[in-house]
Amino acid sequence: MVENVAMEFSPALDLVLGALERMRESGAHLPRASRDSLAQLRNQSIAAPVQPTRPTIDKAALLAPIQARVSICTRCPHLATSRTQSVFGVGNPDAELMFIGEAPGADEDARGEPFVGRAGQLLTKIIETMGFARAEVYIANVLKCRPDMPRGSSGNRPPTPEEMQTCLPYLAEQIEIIRPKVLVALGATAVEGLLGTRAPMHAMRGRWHSHHETPLMITYHPSYLLRNQAPSEKRKVWEDMLLVLEELGRPISEKQRRYFT
Ligand code: SF4
Repeated sequence: MVENVAMEFSPALDLVLGALERMRESGAHLPRASRDSLAQLRNQSIAAPVQPTRPTIDKAALLAPIQARVSICTRCPHLATSRTQSVFGVGNPDAELMFIGEAPGADEDARGEPFVGRAGQLLTKIIETMGFARAEVYIANVLKCRPDMPRGSSGNRPPTPEEMQTCLPYLAEQIEIIRPKVLVALGATAVEGLLGTRAPMHAMRGRWHSHHETPLMITYHPSYLLRNQAPSEKRKVWEDMLLVLEELGRPISEKQRRYFT
């Protein structure tokens, strides 16, 4: 007990010891402190190093200047002029789970937030079915600006390899700061951005990969599930998410396990 107190309050203990010693020398009767007790306390004080308090990392503050750089980025001049705004990422900077998609679509470009269109709503449903609130995880894209489309045409296009390579350093900085326990790549473009490989999704999904030593799960992009409504495909994504929950050590209810059976 004395040892713990000494470790935590070593500077204060020095002050108390000094005061006790001065009182003893001056002949004061109270408080009583023998020479042995004072020596014992002095030894505890000298032996106990002052424990440095571990600084808490303000990840939001570290992300803010990167977001500011992204907001005015013109590394891809054609995208800088065509975008409404860049789409940095959203969610909990201390998240243990981080989802990475492809690029902003029209809805995301308009709102400045990733995964807010139909595919985003499906992703939110998946996240909530996993037992998280959307705000608990972090969501970002490989590309921060919407890939431009020919004038008059709607829809989205995937980023080019050159666009991805230009923008990837921003994502790398985000991952480095957030340091999630698990990454989830949504779709082939995210896989290409993170692993530099293009392979059929059916060969990549459902098993663990690694991104700079962070476990990486690969699964289908929610927009694929919107195009292909087969329950078998939804089940595959859900099986991948169950693996993620196991990796995170999260409890999995019987209802979650049987979601698609
Ligand atoms: S896509 Fe990325 S690198 Fe290109 S302009 Fe946008 S923020 Fe900059």
